[in-house]
This record gives sequence, C-alpha cells and structure tokens, in this order.
Amino acid sequence: TPHDKPRLWFDGDIVDADALHADLSTHALHYGSGVFEGIRSYATAHGAAIFRLPEHLERMRQGAELLGMDFDVAQATEATVQTLRANCHRDAYIRPLTWVGAGSFGLDVSGHPQHMMVATTQSLVHLNGARARIGVSSWRRNPADSLPPLKLCGGYVNSILAKREARSRGYGEALFVDHDGYVVECTGANVFMVKDGRVTAVEHRDALPGITRDTLITLSGATSRAVTLAELQDADEVFACGTAAEVAPVAEVEGRNYGDNPVSRELAALYARVVRGEESTSHAWLTPV
Ligand code: PMP
Repeated sequence: TPHDKPRLWFDGDIVDADALHADLSTHALHYGSGVFEGIRSYATAHGAAIFRLPEHLERMRQGAELLGMDFDVAQATEATVQTLRANCHRDAYIRPLTWVGAGSFGLDVSGHPQHMMVATTQSLVHLNGARARIGVSSWRRNPADSLPPLKLCGGYVNSILAKREARSRGYGEALFVDHDGYVVECTGANVFMVKDGRVTAVEHRDALPGITRDTLITLSGATSRAVTLAELQDADEVFACGTAAEVAPVAEVEGRNYGDNPVSRELAALYARVVRGEESTSHAWLTPV
C-alpha cells in the first residue's frame, strides 16, 4: 500500500518530500545549472522494473560532466530503486535531478555544493494518450554548438517557449524545425514518420538522442536520417516518442491531418509489451526493483 506522504531520495537519504526546502541562492535556480532525467518503471509479471535505467543514467552522467559536476551512476541506480520502494511505486515516472547548490551569485560552479534527488510519481502520460496535434514552432531548437542536446535544466527554457506558443495557437505540442527546413524534434519527444510502410526516425544534431527513439529503431528496423518538414507532412503517418510520451500517434502537423496511423499504433502496442517485460527482447532492458 502506498504511503500517505510522497518520499524522495535526497543526498543519500529517503526523506519526506515536504520536509525539503532549497536555499534561494541556489545556483541552479538562477542559472539552470542542473541536469535531470525522465525514466519509467513498469509493473511486470515479475514485479516492478525500470526500463533502460543504465542508458538514462549514462546520459545524465554526460550532462553532469559537461557542467563539471560529479555523478556516481552506481549511487544513482541505488537511489532510484530505493525511491520506488519507499513510495511502493510500480508504474511510475522517475525524476532524478542533480544541481549546483547555494553560494555566491557568480557563474563559477566550483565552490558551490552539489545536490542530488530522485522523485517518483505515479505515471503521467506526457501527451495525454490522445493523438497529438502538433504546431510548427517559430522558435529554433537550442543549436548543439551552443547548448548540447542533453537534459540540462536551463536548456528546457527553449522547450517552455515553444510549448507556450503551441498552446496559445491551440496545439498540444510544438515541432522544432531548423533554418533549412529540417525537422528537429518536439519539446520533449523525438519524431518518426511512416511512408509506404517504411519507418524513418528523424535525425538531427540538435535533437536529444532519445532512448525511446533508439528502442523503436531496434524494434522496427527504422532508418535514421534527416527529414524536411515538407517530407514529414507528405508522410502517411507521424508519431512522437519519449519515455513519458511512449509512442504517440500524431493526428496533425500544422494543418496536415493524418489518418488513423495503423503502423504507429502497432508499434505503440509492441512498445507497451516490451516495457512490461512481455517480449523476449525486453529482459536486457529491464532493471528489477
Ligand atoms: N527530446 C527531448 C527534448 C526530451 O526532453 C525527451 C524526453 N527525455 C526526448 C526527446 C525523448 O527522450 P527519451 O526517449 O530518452 O525519453
């Protein structure tokens, strides 16, 4: 039975979430100097299991390294398992975050303490399960040579701007397209298309190298390559994918309406079985809780 109070892992201990407060001089609060992950666990026939945990934590380690922060993958693994157990969560969204703490208002991160937390929540569905309607953003994705596509806290301001604009235009999600007309990704999900039965994963240097994307390339044999917006709108089907979004069939991209996405639906169903340990390919990707 779940505990009344949500608990989280903070700097080595499991504590009540409401007992924690961050200092207002926290460096990350002012400058976005943190890195996070979005991970999921699923209820499987053999208990709760975390999907592709090592890959998520390796991506987090890379972000931490870029910021000059220490990151212990073994400790983060243990913290993730402990938090799920402490909250009795099985089907959960897992949010580890490491950040630069309180100190001076200077930009230099050295000399500031570093913190780490892991929170878990009952699963939320990023694109709300409904078929997504996506508007093309007037904002450009952070270019990789200005801000590498890792899960750096500050980088998500770019996604917030695009999401705000999409919502104000009546869309649920935003699609980033670069100056040359190539598709990058959504605010928190990667993009695929299906044309004449062939599945293509949109590739772009400014896009986060998604773990769901990688999983779906393995499962579908999709080709990974650059795709223009014109080509995406000419495709038979489009879907977005991410840890939270899973496989989300797209109903519309900026005035182009798609049919009922049979290939996307089939892949969504396959992905749902894989993450729950129901396919032979599953087991190498699941960490038991
Ligand atoms: N792009 C962005 C910007 C994201 O935030 C996410 C979610 N982590 C993704 C793509 C999908 O990545 P993943 O499949 O690893 O969750």
